[in-house]
Amino acid sequence: APVVLGLHIGGSKTHAVLSGARGPGADSDLRLEITEARANLSSVGHQGADAVLRRIAARVGGGVEAVCAGAAGADTPASRAVLSALLSEHFPGARIEVVHDTRIILAAAGLEAGVVLVAGTGSVAWGRNREGREARSGGYGYLLGDEGGGYSVVRDAVREALREYYAGLEPGPLVQSLMAATASVDALQLMDFFYAKPEPDHWAGLAPLVLDLAIDGDPAALRIQAEAAHSLASLARQVLGELGLDLPLVMAGALLVNQSQLAAAVARKMSLEDPSLISILPQAPVFGAVKLARRLIQQ
Ligand code: BGC
Repeated sequence: APVVLGLHIGGSKTHAVLSGARGPGADSDLRLEITEARANLSSVGHQGADAVLRRIAARVGGGVEAVCAGAAGADTPASRAVLSALLSEHFPGARIEVVHDTRIILAAAGLEAGVVLVAGTGSVAWGRNREGREARSGGYGYLLGDEGGGYSVVRDAVREALREYYAGLEPGPLVQSLMAATASVDALQLMDFFYAKPEPDHWAGLAPLVLDLAIDGDPAALRIQAEAAHSLASLARQVLGELGLDLPLVMAGALLVNQSQLAAAVARKMSLEDPSLISILPQAPVFGAVKLARRLIQQ
């Protein structure tokens, strides 16, 4: 098989998988997997993305025939064109395709028709039905949307810290662990840190801390988790409502994949007639990008 590269450019990291065989007579499936820093344009800009893609290209070497990148935040044709141009520079001669991250997730699920619900750093629901119609809800980045994603979960926890502080309460377990994790002495310093370090992935990284406390039954963490589950279920319900309630729903993104209690809460709130339509993405999104890259050569 020819050598192709799949890329998942997420909100917190970039995941690359090289697949295929190089050179005449080579038949073994060569596979290289690389995890790199995030490369999405809205957070690291052109130069930042360029540096990450350059490092990946250096490790991958030449002879790549097709590259497909699924990128969080690649919402507009303009941003996809910028990434495309960067990839053409680093992988000269290869066919290049840049798609929104939801597309590689559907491919990784092995589906042509279905709805994906993502909660990682950000969140989004998107789907395509059997007639090829597409619909989307949410996922406008951390300033405009991303309800129920990792960043919004942690922002809710910081709000809880401020609420408790101004109510004159002793910090509860959730706020205590948040303060310990960020080395802040009180809620006010936590707020200062929140504004001083605005990178969404930095804060989204603390979401497991909040959701793990929900498993322990902490009331504040449970409220935040219920709110996240409600938001995520609304995103998915809207897309399913537009496309057809009989479509499979695939949950993806670190938050839904690693926090099974959140995924279960979302599934409950969906109250679908047939709950067996809901599944968790069985493999990393990047493998969907590899599949789509293969399709580029077959076309
Ligand atoms: C981005 C979307 C993306 C979603 C899930 C959001 O922050 O704006 O483009 O699909 O995260 O990764």
